[in-house]
Amino acid sequence: MTAGTPKPQVDTSKPHPARVYDYLLGGKDNYPVDREIGQQLPEDSRRDSRLNRAFMHRAAAWVAQSGIDQYLDIGTGIPTEPNLHQIVQKIAPASRVVYTDNDPIVLRHAEALLISTPEGATDYIEADVRRPHEILEHARGFLDFSRPVALSLIALMHFIPDEDDPYGITRTLVDALPSGSVFVFSQGTADFQPQNLVGKVTNTYGKGGIPLRLRTRAEVLRFFDGLDLVDPGLVTAPKWFKGTPAPEDEQSSFYVGAARVR
Ligand code: SAH
Repeated sequence: MTAGTPKPQVDTSKPHPARVYDYLLGGKDNYPVDREIGQQLPEDSRRDSRLNRAFMHRAAAWVAQSGIDQYLDIGTGIPTEPNLHQIVQKIAPASRVVYTDNDPIVLRHAEALLISTPEGATDYIEADVRRPHEILEHARGFLDFSRPVALSLIALMHFIPDEDDPYGITRTLVDALPSGSVFVFSQGTADFQPQNLVGKVTNTYGKGGIPLRLRTRAEVLRFFDGLDLVDPGLVTAPKWFKGTPAPEDEQSSFYVGAARVR
């Protein structure tokens, strides 16, 4: 994106997942249609969003500490500090990050994602994860795919219904990563919620035209096929931590995990 590019058009007549998530996190970049959904969701949704974001913070720091300095983050969301590049560049200032989202509102706020350290670099493209080859083609121009890359799909795939082939999309992206790369993933589940509440969440998003496909543990594990999950494996968001003890002993409706590419 260059200076002077016209502001992207944001459709405020329909809710968008990025803006609902922003609302749940307590952000200000949302509209009445988004808040209407957010207010109808169970109270737990705010906690789930916060704990998912906290997982992203811990996982990004761990990846950076493990020596990786290139990132492809798809489904980035509206910038909420700290963003991924701020976390990893604090540890490794020369890190390079490609951010991707398909919601024009994220592009509108992309300036916040593009303020990199002078040693590193950040880039933003508006793209749909359902067209992974386009994303990869762009990312190859910015990252060096002969060295390890961290791919993050965080709180994204529950917006991709089965008919859009979420596993095939993930496979295409993961197959592009060289050995030693890392895959970081999270997705909503209904495993811990009573059926009526799950129906309410799915219907609330559905009424807004947002398909939500919560997945069971076994279904989430499939995203890691062929990869080596790192400790503590596939767990709920507050249970994933490295080194320091679990910061929060809270319930969560997100499965999260990180894995290495062989
Ligand atoms: N990864 C961030 C934000 C999660 S919210 C975090 O975990 O904190 C989910 C994001 O996925 C939203 O910004 C939404 O716009 C984006 N998204 C949903 N469907 C998408 C698609 N098909 N392609 C790319 N991004 C998508």
